[in-house]
Amino acid sequence: MEVVTTRAELAAARTAHGELGLIPTMGYLHAGHLSLVAAARRENAAVAASVFVNPTQFGPGEDLQAYPRDLQRDLALLADAGTDLVWVPRTQDVYPAGFATTVTVAGLTDRLEGAHRHGHFAGVCTVVAILLGAVCPTRAYFGRKDAQQAVVVQRMATDLALGAQIRVAPIVREPDGLALSSRNVYLDAQQRRASRVLSASLRAARRAYADGERDGERLRAVVAEVLAGEPCARPDYVSVADPQTFAELDRVAERGALVSLAVRIGRVRLLDNTVLDTPPGGDDAGLDAPPAAG
Ligand code: AMP
Repeated sequence: MEVVTTRAELAAARTAHGELGLIPTMGYLHAGHLSLVAAARRENAAVAASVFVNPTQFGPGEDLQAYPRDLQRDLALLADAGTDLVWVPRTQDVYPAGFATTVTVAGLTDRLEGAHRHGHFAGVCTVVAILLGAVCPTRAYFGRKDAQQAVVVQRMATDLALGAQIRVAPIVREPDGLALSSRNVYLDAQQRRASRVLSASLRAARRAYADGERDGERLRAVVAEVLAGEPCARPDYVSVADPQTFAELDRVAERGALVSLAVRIGRVRLLDNTVLDTPPGGDDAGLDAPPAAG
């Protein structure tokens, strides 16, 4: 596995590979990231990852400084998973002196995470555009854990003809249902137990939907009621929205729905989501199984 830092080193290393899958990450890797590496391995001759905690996607007062980092461990995990090339840029390699460009995707970024984290998606889109431009992957892999991000990046890649096919992989969860996240390390034991309420609330929505509930407001209420049962959980939002436009739904129809939420547990802000209409055995099958004790 080759590890490079500068854009020039990356460009030289890139010439050794033809078809290439890229997994952009902020590091502190877990099985969710590694599932993207595995997907890229299946679909490409070679696999690249980037490890970069992108400062422009953090707002003032967010956890940029505290964001967990362990590069040696990340590199060992990537090597074990069969990664061929890793770009670990410094901030000046991504944003050289004089950098003055911001990429924004209009409309899609007004809701959900975009409404709660101003400037977040401009930072994400700008860094992903740089990564795709510098690495020139055949395909780039994103997790549905960040469902809005995946759709926004897809829009940007299409609009700007960035050349990479955007692939979206299912959410990887702990046995008790908690979606894996680098930020889970912030949770103390009590908060970790409380965090089960996120997946439990989505499971309740899936059950209501399976029982025939199609009213958007009632589905949001089902989720909110489960969250309200956990005193440590403070929801930022609960959404039942169109999976492509993120417009809140009065009724769930043939396009299905993205049920998504952001919940604060102590100082930790956690995201989770599920897609209603997934066929049985689909992406979220793990969520329907009874949770293992954790
Ligand atoms: P991050 O390092 O948090 O920026 O995440 C890098 C990529 O991994 C993003 O595309 C995420 O959506 C994806 N990812 C993060 N957590 C998970 C998970 N639990 N399951 C699947 N993909 C994930």
